[in-house]
Amino acid sequence: MSTHEQQQQEYLALPEQRGPFHIIGDVHGCLGELLALLQQLKYATNFDAQQQRYVTLPPDDSKLIFVGDLVDRGPDSPEVLRLVMDMVEQGIAYCVSGNHDDKLHRMLLGHNVQVRHGLELTAAQLASRDAAFIERVRLFLGSLPHHLILDEGRLIVAHAGLEERLHGKNSKGVRALCLYGPTAGGKDENGLPIRLDWAAEYCGKPVVVYGHSPVHEPFWRNNTINIDTGCVFGGSLTALTYPDFKLTAVKAFGRYAEPMRPFISHPRHEQHSSIS
Ligand code: MN
Repeated sequence: MSTHEQQQQEYLALPEQRGPFHIIGDVHGCLGELLALLQQLKYATNFDAQQQRYVTLPPDDSKLIFVGDLVDRGPDSPEVLRLVMDMVEQGIAYCVSGNHDDKLHRMLLGHNVQVRHGLELTAAQLASRDAAFIERVRLFLGSLPHHLILDEGRLIVAHAGLEERLHGKNSKGVRALCLYGPTAGGKDENGLPIRLDWAAEYCGKPVVVYGHSPVHEPFWRNNTINIDTGCVFGGSLTALTYPDFKLTAVKAFGRYAEPMRPFISHPRHEQHSSIS
């Protein structure tokens, strides 16, 4: 494989796409919960055993958007990938890259990555899949944008969020911020990079939907919303409907992994104050 395949990902602008969207938080291999959430959102998903493909019928003209981190830690990352890849190919879903998706991609490119934080589980799950499937996953992960711009720029989706001045920008630095979020440089008491609270300072008009840092409840602040409700850690899998900002959630069927750090708790009185 050639090296120009990597680091090619850019943002993806689909200004004419106005929704309705169902934006889904970090899935992390939680296939059962994802299927249950899709059913609750009135997507009819069937597995065609002959074609070995999922065929999904969305409600009305709705489309799905995944905030990334499809894989790692959960019970069936390969099957989550297949379902999402099939929906993307069907033209009814979009997905941005998360840090876990990116690391799996680098592993599949043959890079020397540390196989931990749930990647060891994904690697084991992928071992029983054939080469064609692995190749499909590699190409899919390599094609994911680092952020999505929708509805004439009114809606931004990035795995770890994105400050306003970087919307519609491409660079290594922007990509790193989209996937990992801003960090302070030091380590916290769990030995993990200290994450900076970019959303606290956000004053943009576009709504930014993101995941990456598990929260007990979806959390609105300054036109940003974190919808990673930590399904793989026994929380829930959340969907945000756009443009009406309705929340739908499925409780996790189990607790598949222990969180690396405590969930972020936010005061519940802060509410969405979007002016559009
Ligand atoms: Mn995540």
